[in-house]
Amino acid sequence: MINIPKGTKDTLPSESAKWRYIEDSLRRLSSLYNVREIRTPMFEHTELFVRGIGDGTDVVNKEMYTFEDKGGRSITLKPEGTASVARSFVENSLDAMSLPLKMYYITPCFRYERPQAGRLREFHQFGLEIYGASSPYLDLDCITFAYEALTGLGLKNIRLHLNSIGCPECRKTYTAALKEYFASHLDEMCSTCRERYDRNPLRLLDCKSPDCKAIAAGAPRISDYLCDGCRAHHAKLQELLKGAGVPYEIDEGIVRGLDYYTRTVFEFVTEDLGAQGTVCGGGRYDNLVQSIGGKPTGCVGFAMGLERILMLMEKQGITFPDERVGVFVMSQSADQADACMRITAELRRAGVSADTEMTGRSLKAQFKYADKIGARFGIVIGGNEISSGTVKIKNLSDGTEEECALGDIAARMKEKING
Ligand code: ATP
Ligand code: MG
Repeated sequence: MINIPKGTKDTLPSESAKWRYIEDSLRRLSSLYNVREIRTPMFEHTELFVRGIGDGTDVVNKEMYTFEDKGGRSITLKPEGTASVARSFVENSLDAMSLPLKMYYITPCFRYERPQAGRLREFHQFGLEIYGASSPYLDLDCITFAYEALTGLGLKNIRLHLNSIGCPECRKTYTAALKEYFASHLDEMCSTCRERYDRNPLRLLDCKSPDCKAIAAGAPRISDYLCDGCRAHHAKLQELLKGAGVPYEIDEGIVRGLDYYTRTVFEFVTEDLGAQGTVCGGGRYDNLVQSIGGKPTGCVGFAMGLERILMLMEKQGITFPDERVGVFVMSQSADQADACMRITAELRRAGVSADTEMTGRSLKAQFKYADKIGARFGIVIGGNEISSGTVKIKNLSDGTEEECALGDIAARMKEKING
């Protein structure tokens, strides 16, 4: 037997309805927010992620699925969606469209990580990207979207953590202060942090090791270093969030794992998923488009991990609408099989989901099967039904029956099921 690769998952027929429920709900919200879908390839030139996400991040240094293709090009399976959208924005001159441009994607992502609950090597993200606007109103739009997406799915116990990591200007003085602070603690910190010290000191605040966390708690705070512009942006966003009734807490420990962020960064976190508690992360990335060769473009967005959202919904006991076939048409004996097929076809043409017996089983076995697949109604077709021209429609959940003319089945069922 050949097994599934480590860190990947099949979505089985019994589970796929849950995925579609989540995806449909996100797509619906997108259209309410005037957000259009963008689809980009599953793989890109490795260079895009190195420049876009940043050399010195865990994603680029340790987690990428990179290989050489037969033409000798270095290719990487996309570890996230934002860099690809930025590439597409520049390549297709989307800045020539009226801005801001609001886009969403649903995509598989690939990261070579140690698999555990909520951490896979192939996982899925829903992402929102708003391009071409620097105003905090767009940050609000983006955060509100995420908030409504999560609450709209019925999720509870999720907190919004918000921070500003400033712009390259204010960050220069801040990283200098961080380096000065951490210099005397480096020998007590983990090896990853020691590497980060030179390449990306901001990431020292993001380490999950308890020792490093304790040291980071005493580090200089970004809020003391923000320039006037960044400070005003951060203050306005908070005022807007309060006005919109979106609860948040300031968390100066959030810096986000990817290099492209400027100013606003945020995460939606829960304590119900153990160590993999971040269900959504995002922020503003005003320098990303420029860093991959486009014009300076203000952008804000987020990505949410759909596996974590699904896990959390299950953990919180949220029920998903079930996908049941509307009608199962049963034949008294093999003689009625053809008639059953015709009735089933009629039901489907009328827009009623229907299935019928095709393996010649006994009526008892057909009822058992109808019950197993959760069919809502059953209709038995026998010689009597055909000669009298009337059938009984049985509600399989409560056992009640009603009569119906053979020729009216499709119309009646359409009314009963689709309302
Ligand atoms: P973490 O700190 O958990 O590693 P991250 O900062 O690497 O997350 P992002 O790059 O911000 O994550 O990706 C956005 C979201 O995608 C995360 O908040 C999470 O919900 C999800 N995600 C990230 N990596 C994985 C993974 N390996 N498996 C499943 N979901 C993931
Ligand atoms: Mg990660």
